Amino acid sequence: MGKPTGFIEIPRQLPTDRNPKERVRDWNEFHEHMAEGKLREQGARCMDCGIPFCHNGNLLAGMASGCPINNLIPEWNDLVYRGLWEEALERLHKTNNFPEFTGRVCPAPCEGSCVLGISEPPVTIKNIECAIIDTGFDEGWVKPQVPEKRTGKQVAVIGSGPAGLSCAAQLNRAGHEVTVFERADRIGGLLMYGIPNMKLDKKIVQRRVDLMTSEGVKFVTHTEVGKNYAAEKLLKDFHAAVLCCGATKPRDLPIEGRNLAGVHFAMEFLHGNTKSLLDGKPGEKFISAKDKHVIVIGGGDTGTDCVGTAMRHGCKSLIQLEILPKPPQERAADNPWPQWPKVYKLDYGQEEAAAAFGNDPRQYLVTAKKFTGDAQGKVTGIVIVNIEWQKDEKGRFIPKEVPGTEKTLPADLVLLAMGFLGPEDTLLQALAVERDERSNVKAEHGKYATSVKGIFSAGDMRRGQSLVVWAIQEGRGAARAVDQFLMGSTDLP
Ligand SMILES: Cc1cc2nc3c(=O)[nH]c(=O)nc-3n(C[C@H](O)[C@H](O)[C@H](O)COP(=O)(O)OP(=O)(O)OC[C@H]3O[C@@H](n4cnc5c(N)ncnc54)[C@H](O)[C@@H]3O)c2cc1C
Ligand code: SF4
Repeated sequence: MGKPTGFIEIPRQLPTDRNPKERVRDWNEFHEHMAEGKLREQGARCMDCGIPFCHNGNLLAGMASGCPINNLIPEWNDLVYRGLWEEALERLHKTNNFPEFTGRVCPAPCEGSCVLGISEPPVTIKNIECAIIDTGFDEGWVKPQVPEKRTGKQVAVIGSGPAGLSCAAQLNRAGHEVTVFERADRIGGLLMYGIPNMKLDKKIVQRRVDLMTSEGVKFVTHTEVGKNYAAEKLLKDFHAAVLCCGATKPRDLPIEGRNLAGVHFAMEFLHGNTKSLLDGKPGEKFISAKDKHVIVIGGGDTGTDCVGTAMRHGCKSLIQLEILPKPPQERAADNPWPQWPKVYKLDYGQEEAAAAFGNDPRQYLVTAKKFTGDAQGKVTGIVIVNIEWQKDEKGRFIPKEVPGTEKTLPADLVLLAMGFLGPEDTLLQALAVERDERSNVKAEHGKYATSVKGIFSAGDMRRGQSLVVWAIQEGRGAARAVDQFLMGSTDLP
């Protein structure tokens, strides 16, 4: 703790975001960078607490409290304050393979549990993390780490999202020969084809993939294991396999009019958009929001990304429907520190819609009843109704329609962003891997072994749709488990 009075003297400061009216004209990242002196000042706000809640990563009330990968936050805050950036980078890489991803997209449970946050705005942990790794790349300090010895063991990783990538990076470091199979045309999972460019530039994802390639990891795209690579070949060709295929089954909304043209799952819209941008031309699956009345159903990260993308297409109007109540401005009494703060936030997409149309586009406590269409089978509207959450006889909260509140909103494009139900079935059925009651792969957290010997699983496929930081945590853990399985012991962190 370089500056004992830092947290008293220096107010929290984040870099400014680009003007929402300007930034919707391009696909560049929306955060500006902060000057080095300012970053060092922000590092000085860290109190180096005796018990640093920011890096413990426990689950409290079902949500992460503190960093799930146990980043050594007070240590690198202090090093940044002292201007020792390379040392800070070394400390950061000890726990996190990809700080350039989490530093951009993590919701930062670390900041929600920062001790300073009890009485003052918390330390800007995520922004400092991002600055450390960006400086590392700019200065040429991030170099390929090729293992000195190879073990002669081959491992297949199926799926190239953050779980598969962190698992592959760690296994490679332990000297195993790793092949990552990906069905898409590009590596990265939701880092590449879910989270849009303005939040995470795809050059940043590709830079890490290229680095891993030069470290010796082999990437195979256009290959869906269980379809165009037989599942039963896995354990013949490899000594072990790790399933990191995500939780990609979207929740549907089977109401009247669901089959009308113009009603899509959010991922169809987001994937088609990013692919078109990367390919430099609109592909077959590109869905345009230009000049359309857009309705986004679902208020989470996926919904926000649909809002930001539709704004960049130049939509005519935008409404985002949310079945839950508007969160409070401050923590509620039943959501104390160090729990994840469930408070109202104007995220980047909503900020952009508000700048263009005058209001936060979210409507709370509403549900969709049906879609209406024209004679050509195209969606033209959505009928919504207000709801109240009431307890049933078993004490569970259930939504009840408020009579007389039905109304119809115009809609030319409806995007369903209501979450994900779990992993897809084909590969898991072919491998006869046991599932848990939520249909995820059954494998204990920390052990990652499935019911089939030699097959492990990590990330959203094992825990359900979650966060990038949890996927990294699980990928690293699964690598440790595989190393132990192959070698009888492991030195992997
Ligand atoms: C739109 C959206 C935005 C999000 N935004 C954020 C955010 O801002 N911050 C955050 O922390 N989290 C965010 N998340 C969640 C986060 O992206 C996921 O939790 C994380 O990517 C999960 O990583 P994973 O490696 O387990 O799976 P994924 O990233 O889903 O990767 C799985 C990969 O497996 C491939 N695959 C599937 N089956 C096969 C097969 N049989 N053979 C070969 N390949 C296969 C898929 O093509 C995919 O590339 C977001 C999610 C979505 C959908
Ligand atoms: S990975 Fe997320 S939780 Fe961990 S330090 Fe970075 S922003 Fe915080």
